[in-house]
Amino acid sequence: MAETRSTCPYCGVGCGVIIDSDGAQITGVRGDPQHPANFGRLCSKGSTLHLTAAAPVTLRQRLLHPLRRAERGQAPQRVGWNEALSEATDRFEDVIRRHGRDAVGFYLSGQLLTEDYYVFNKLAKGLIGTNNVDTNSRLCMSSAVAGYKATLGADAPPACYEDLAHARTLFIAGSNMAWAHPILMRRVEDAKRANPALRLIVVDPRRTETAALADLHLALLPGTDVALFHGLLHLMLWEGLTDNAYIAAHTQGFDALRERVREFTPRETARITGLREQDVVTAARWFAGLDGAPGAPRAPTLSLYCQGLNQSRNGTAKNAALVNLHLATGQIGQAGAGPFSLTGQPNAMGGREVGGLANLLSAHRDMANPEHRAEVARLWGVDDVPSRAGKTAVEMFEAAADGEIKALWIACTNPAQSLPDQATVRRALQQAEFVVVQEAFRDTATAAFADLLLPAASWGEKEGTVTNSERRISRVRAAVAAPGEARSDFAIATEFAQRLEGRLRPGKPPLFAYASPQAAWLEHRESTRGRDLDITGLSWDVLETAGPQQWPMPQGATQGRARLYEDGVFPTADGRARFADLAYEPVAEPRDGRFPFSLNTGRLRDQWHGMSRTGVLGRLFGHVPEPAVELHPQELARLNVAEGDLLHVTSRRGSILLPVAANEGVPLTQAFIPMHWGSEFVCGRSSRGEPLAGVNALTSPAFCPISKQPELKHAAVKLLKA
Ligand code: SF4
Repeated sequence: MAETRSTCPYCGVGCGVIIDSDGAQITGVRGDPQHPANFGRLCSKGSTLHLTAAAPVTLRQRLLHPLRRAERGQAPQRVGWNEALSEATDRFEDVIRRHGRDAVGFYLSGQLLTEDYYVFNKLAKGLIGTNNVDTNSRLCMSSAVAGYKATLGADAPPACYEDLAHARTLFIAGSNMAWAHPILMRRVEDAKRANPALRLIVVDPRRTETAALADLHLALLPGTDVALFHGLLHLMLWEGLTDNAYIAAHTQGFDALRERVREFTPRETARITGLREQDVVTAARWFAGLDGAPGAPRAPTLSLYCQGLNQSRNGTAKNAALVNLHLATGQIGQAGAGPFSLTGQPNAMGGREVGGLANLLSAHRDMANPEHRAEVARLWGVDDVPSRAGKTAVEMFEAAADGEIKALWIACTNPAQSLPDQATVRRALQQAEFVVVQEAFRDTATAAFADLLLPAASWGEKEGTVTNSERRISRVRAAVAAPGEARSDFAIATEFAQRLEGRLRPGKPPLFAYASPQAAWLEHRESTRGRDLDITGLSWDVLETAGPQQWPMPQGATQGRARLYEDGVFPTADGRARFADLAYEPVAEPRDGRFPFSLNTGRLRDQWHGMSRTGVLGRLFGHVPEPAVELHPQELARLNVAEGDLLHVTSRRGSILLPVAANEGVPLTQAFIPMHWGSEFVCGRSSRGEPLAGVNALTSPAFCPISKQPELKHAAVKLLKA
């Protein structure tokens, strides 16, 4: 028996795990008591990793050999790795030569390790010369990235998990962390036990498990968060709760924002958000932290937020408006205070660090900045990197559907289930000349469209690093060999890059001569030198001996930094944070007479994304055994249906059939459908009659104009009894 320390592959909490294995198979998993994210705890998903990894059905569903489809619609046939990668190289080279560099696109995943991401990003931007490299992190975190950059000057969450123990008020917005980040929620409960005076404000249209624990639940109308945050600032100004000394010393742009929030009186805020004026007043006082004894210091407030803010056509404004509140009250850079964006996926942070999105460059460099582009080109050993932002997730598939992108490489993600407006995504996959799917599982919805299927190693079978929500870098380690001929994502990306560079820059020094993932990580480390996320003081040896570390950790540092901006200096040209003066915009598709319900989507406690891993284990269905559309009991009465009756749920893009379930936590005129269920569970049709599956048959491709993150949290739908 062997023990291997690694990291859970599910959510962005980034819990440490110890994997037991017998050399051939993973036999057990435990929480790592030494890992600072979880101190030994695991949730229902993490604690069953060994069962999902070794389940017979998992082994049957693994992709074990490269497969090639000679004709669309035919069953794919087994081929060798050499033949598979030769074909991929030929086809990508051919498309690039015939149609140009921007005719190819790479769609990646927040599940990939930092080293995998690094190679793919360099392959697209450095070797091919296209910025068409984006990931499912676009669906997850890009509004948080844009919100941080617009206000604090860099994509860097300033707080840490330990701040939960120091806060007096937790302001949880757009996050059901009790289900989506369960181990972090255990730390909230610990903090509440240790400090009964700790207050929870939860901002969420639904009464979730998290909202049920709140001292104040602000059940606002969908998409009205910016109006609420502007209204809170209006009240803070009116009641003298802002920290004027902090504003004067460390920020700029407050005057314009003060004008902006003038119209958000308590009455107007209540009208837009549907909240009670008194609740908005209470929230403003608690957030500001000056409601204690006269003369007492300001009590710290920590905000925790996730997809409810991010997955919105107003996502950047929502994030920035919340950060504004922290800057206006000086609630940042001190223990227990700060705007803390929670990461949905295990390595969305690592992907951002290497610049693995269509509008980012390595180590938080700016694509529009010629000096930054020159620095990256120098680091990579190429002449230049393109300046024009590439296609983001929704745009990439729309471009493929329009015939603009001809070749797609999809790694470790399932866009034929997870992207909004599935009808367009499926047209894109059919329209593209050549589709490569690099996957651990054989039967995903996207695999059905692949011309070439490349078998990838999965959790417990590969080496590298990930970064969790609190900027903490942890090692991911292999406990067993990958089954069949599956290879690590890093090895697949690197070999393809090596073959393609032989065609596109023959005779030049190699760009991808990596003997191991660690070699790529060392190159990434060097790219961070002098940047806000500098990790030149970190090594894999340090991770081995001292354990996971938070960035930055520059050369000479003996440990990573827990909290940012404690000195009040921000990574902007003048060292000051910016107040973002952004407008409130309602949802892109308001409900109306034809589509009278607001559809919300989200996670279940025991399932993960498209269920390719969690969906194999019976016990993980004990919590929620089948899909349903959840409605308030009064809506069931109004529709004259009983629990379990089937409803057609229809948006302007498609329709699905689901049983109905009563849930008093879902407000009137709203509906909730979990995001996980795919074609095995939920069937439907597009508005043109094409077969579709899952809730994303309904969701809208509308996205935030700044972050390009789609509004997965809101679509107008109608409900009809089947
Ligand atoms: Fe894994 Fe997240 Fe659960 Fe931790 S909280 S065990 S990282 S799913």
